[in-house]
Amino acid sequence: MEIVRCLILGSGPAGYTAAIYAGRAGLNPVLYEGLQPGGQLTTTTEIENFPGYPDGVDANAMMDDMRRQALRFGVEIRPLMAVKAELGQRPFVITLDDGSQVGCWALIIATGASARYLGLPDEERLRGAGVSACATCDGFFYRKKTVAVVGGGDTACEEATYLAGLASKVYMIVRKPFLRASKAMQERVMANPKITILFETNVLSLLGKEGVEGAHLVRKKGTPEESTMDIAIDGFFLAIGHDPNSRLFKPWVETDESGYIVTQGISSCTNVEGVFAAGDVADPQYRQAITAAASGCKAAIDAERYLAANGK
Ligand code: NDP
Repeated sequence: MEIVRCLILGSGPAGYTAAIYAGRAGLNPVLYEGLQPGGQLTTTTEIENFPGYPDGVDANAMMDDMRRQALRFGVEIRPLMAVKAELGQRPFVITLDDGSQVGCWALIIATGASARYLGLPDEERLRGAGVSACATCDGFFYRKKTVAVVGGGDTACEEATYLAGLASKVYMIVRKPFLRASKAMQERVMANPKITILFETNVLSLLGKEGVEGAHLVRKKGTPEESTMDIAIDGFFLAIGHDPNSRLFKPWVETDESGYIVTQGISSCTNVEGVFAAGDVADPQYRQAITAAASGCKAAIDAERYLAANGK
């Protein structure tokens, strides 16, 4: 079995930044790209809030730049996905989806999180054409337009409030007769004249061929008062939660109740010495490209110090 000093799982901003730093530090890192090369950003279009790009940058182009920057420092980038992790031994052993195995002395987990979608065929069809799971990323494109946010938790309230600062009207589509969000967040959305909350409402389908033009909704489904209605919208935002991609590591690595990997203090260290976590898989709070990149940098520095201290 091949044994590498530093193995990085994930190819979003966290994984690539870790790779750039680890490569420059001479750790000869190997990075596995995983299921979605380039990570979640590749599902959005333009990035306007990553410092250094005053005119914005195409998300795929930016991820490609990060990839090339990693290659420049000798990082070996491989297209496979990890399907099994054995972290109770040294070196750690990772099994890939082609059945091969690789050992490593230091492991950086940067496997990200996946936004939850409702599972409608239209979401897939119109993803990137009006369907988004990130208001901070894409809200700006809906200035003075009408948008809908699905969900009734803190994320949905936060996104609706953010979008109300840009759009002319925001619908919140909430399946229950109440919001799950904290009281303060509830009060904020209730008090915002631009936000209309549609309680006990579910989405049946989205309207529009090239881009989102509306949503077909059902209210009080399964009751005698059940009715359907259409709303005209330009953007459709999902805020029904994210799932961190931490399942493989759970037998060893401590996670919180939502599955996010717990890191120690301001470091990227997990409870397993030699295993570091960076990016959305360990971040229930910020989930931004720039915060992911910063944590990837920390993980590489932590890995470098760990390897040096252990003579590996
Ligand atoms: P939550 O799980 O809290 O809320 C998810 C929301 O989406 C709920 O209203 C849920 O409805 C709804 N939902 C889930 N699945 C579906 C579906 N298939 N169809 C329609 N609606 C659906 O997730 P959040 O992302 O909002 O928050 C995650 C955690 O992060 C929470 O602990 C939250 O408090 C925290 N957070 C804190 C913030 C802050 O303090 N500023 C900001 C953002 C998040 P239902 O209620 O019916 O289950």
